[in-house]
Amino acid sequence: VTTPLKHPPAPEAVVVDPWTAPYWEATRRRELTVCRCGDCGEPRLPPGPFCPRCQSQAVRWERLPGTGSLYTYTVIRRGALPAHAASVPYAPAVIALDGVAGVRIISAVVDCDDTALAVGMPVRVVWHELADGNLTPFFTPA
Ligand SMILES: [Zn+2]
Repeated sequence: VTTPLKHPPAPEAVVVDPWTAPYWEATRRRELTVCRCGDCGEPRLPPGPFCPRCQSQAVRWERLPGTGSLYTYTVIRRGALPAHAASVPYAPAVIALDGVAGVRIISAVVDCDDTALAVGMPVRVVWHELADGNLTPFFTPA
């Protein structure tokens, strides 16, 4: 049986700190970004005060193309909480992002049927607006 996937349950707001603020500001422009070490270029995900490779505190932010590939996924068909019943089925997924080798983010695939999912399939970002005005990235088949 083919079933359209829904948007997963999402928070009303996100916690923003000085290290993640540039990411959330970019989402308001519908831009997917990644934080890199300002000295050695190592991706810093999640962003934090020290580079995991060289311990530098310098950072720079790069805009990503917003495309990637489906690294792995599952389909949730029964809500963990009664409040989630209206959100199933949804597909939490790990997305390998184009433009930053080796970096994957946890998200969800939306706006397609469950039978369309396949590991390795190309995807592109779609934005889900939260109540606080920030946006969170979901992905759909490219
Ligand atoms: Zn570094």
